[in-house]
Amino acid sequence: MLRPLLITAALLVAGCSQPEDPQTGKTAPQATPAQKVESPKASGDLPESGVDYHSFANPDQFRVQHLALDLAVDFAQKELSGTATLELEKKAAGATELRLDTRDLDIRLAQALQGDNWQDTSFELKTADPHLGAALVVQVPDGARSVRIEYATAPGASGVQWLTPAQTAGRQHPFLFTQAQAIHARSFVPIQDTPQVRFSYEAVIRTPEPLRAVMSAELNEEKSSAGEYHFAMPQAIPSYLLALAVGDLEFKPMGARTGVWAEPSMLEAAVREFEDTEDMLEATEKVYGKYRWDRYDLLILPPSFPFGGMENPRLSFITPTVIAGDKSLVALIAHELAHSWSGNLVTNASWRDLWLNEGFTTYLTNRIMEFVFGNDRYRMEMAMGYDDLLADIKDREDRDEIMAIDLRGRDPDEVFSNIPYEKGSLFLYEIENKIGREAFDQFLLGYFDHFAFKSITTEDFLEYLDKTLLADHADKLDRARIEEWIFKPGLPAGAPEPRSDAFVPVEEQRAQWLDGKLAADAIDTSGWTFHHWKVFLDGMPEKLSSEQLAALDKALDLTAVKNNEVAASWLKIAVRNQYQPAYQRLEDFLTSIGRNKFLRPLYRALVESGQQQLAQEIFEKAKGGYHPLSVKVNSQIVYDQ
Ligand SMILES: [Zn+2]
Repeated sequence: MLRPLLITAALLVAGCSQPEDPQTGKTAPQATPAQKVESPKASGDLPESGVDYHSFANPDQFRVQHLALDLAVDFAQKELSGTATLELEKKAAGATELRLDTRDLDIRLAQALQGDNWQDTSFELKTADPHLGAALVVQVPDGARSVRIEYATAPGASGVQWLTPAQTAGRQHPFLFTQAQAIHARSFVPIQDTPQVRFSYEAVIRTPEPLRAVMSAELNEEKSSAGEYHFAMPQAIPSYLLALAVGDLEFKPMGARTGVWAEPSMLEAAVREFEDTEDMLEATEKVYGKYRWDRYDLLILPPSFPFGGMENPRLSFITPTVIAGDKSLVALIAHELAHSWSGNLVTNASWRDLWLNEGFTTYLTNRIMEFVFGNDRYRMEMAMGYDDLLADIKDREDRDEIMAIDLRGRDPDEVFSNIPYEKGSLFLYEIENKIGREAFDQFLLGYFDHFAFKSITTEDFLEYLDKTLLADHADKLDRARIEEWIFKPGLPAGAPEPRSDAFVPVEEQRAQWLDGKLAADAIDTSGWTFHHWKVFLDGMPEKLSSEQLAALDKALDLTAVKNNEVAASWLKIAVRNQYQPAYQRLEDFLTSIGRNKFLRPLYRALVESGQQQLAQEIFEKAKGGYHPLSVKVNSQIVYDQ
């Protein structure tokens, strides 16, 4: 995801665009060790490489090869119900039990395919762990190749958001979307919910007319009709990339392989904003190898989507808050697209290894921005990412600054901070600087090909590095330093410090204004994009006087600014200093947007500046429009839970 806007405690974090403020919820999940999956033992008090501590699945006994879903969508009951048919590969002679992950599923029946006949088989739903859900143990008779589970989801399923018409752009029809990363697929499909298991899938989704379904899969137009949509995903994916959305959706192409799905009222603006997507795709392919997922479409979600984006294959899920009118926030699209290589093609084997997904993707995002928008934009994006990283390092505990993070006993959504994203990217940038861009691009091309459609651990990466870059560039690279990057907190001494000259005049003017040497209406903002505005505002001191704020607001019209990123930065300043003229905007902002990246810092700023009651009042008005994850995370903030 792009950093998920912080979803912590639950889904929020996962999305994938940048970590949108991950942070952690306060309750640590209990450690329920999960099983290990074929891996070497690590000594000492460290997590074992290759062990997924967040899944009950037993792929060393049976491994899911293919999933066939047949689900009906019921908006009135907030329920998906039907069957999941799992084709299995038996990995151990004598294996009799298939262990699946579930969370809050109502399991109604289990059957096994014996010969050509489906026969009932026994199953047991184990006691639920608060963070991991419940293991479903299904008896697999000797010779059975497939198992079918009949089930229904719970209305509060952690991976499914049901929106009322009022929560959509069009306000006429309900909407639903899923968010499976990190471990929420289990709340809508009984599955081996671990990134170590990849499977192809097909689905039949039955929707109330006139709503249509889209998935992270190819639509089979011939079989589909109004109210019944057939999908096939021939490429094997991990469970966290299963995705479904249903709503009043229309499609418009942008290029030969790219297009946009959105509610009708948002479609044209989205197509204009993201019209460079095809160029991004082509430019990325030239350097990192063929795009292997056929199509790359975008689904624009309603404003309550808690993340920036989620890299569901073939169909990235995107927040509408990046439709800024000037393409200034399209790095998010580059990010989700980059996941088509780093993440979706070469996948982290467990959430400890998330930096392999997000660090590589953040590095690629910057490069894609340079391919399409040039070097100045590249430098700005890098410098801003670096600032985010420094801020996170300042705030976090040492154990959370380690790229290969120990998540035993914790909710994997907590891992979505700037560490796997920006520290991972900076690490790769250092290697690029040391061996040269050409050699590093060559390495990445080979890496994506070598591990295509595989799930790998941090140690798999290191072993590959030993055979490639460390062997070829022994004079320039040092394994001890690489291990320091991956396994130690903070940044190694002498780490790169990306800077952009474009921000120098911005910072100078801010300093002059703060010193009283430059009037607010004399600040030269010509040519500023959101990048400059954000740097200008985020570098302000904690305290400003109401006269200063009023002058700035009058000169720069900040309370009325349309760009959501800039608005969020300004509103944070307004809250810290209790600048009342911005408070109506603050309330409008918090009640109209569900992206956690924006919500969380504002609610926090309210509470930390002694305005907890106001935080609660606004939250109560707004929460009906938030994703369950955003509700969870932000209610912890406003109620001190
Ligand atoms: Zn991501």
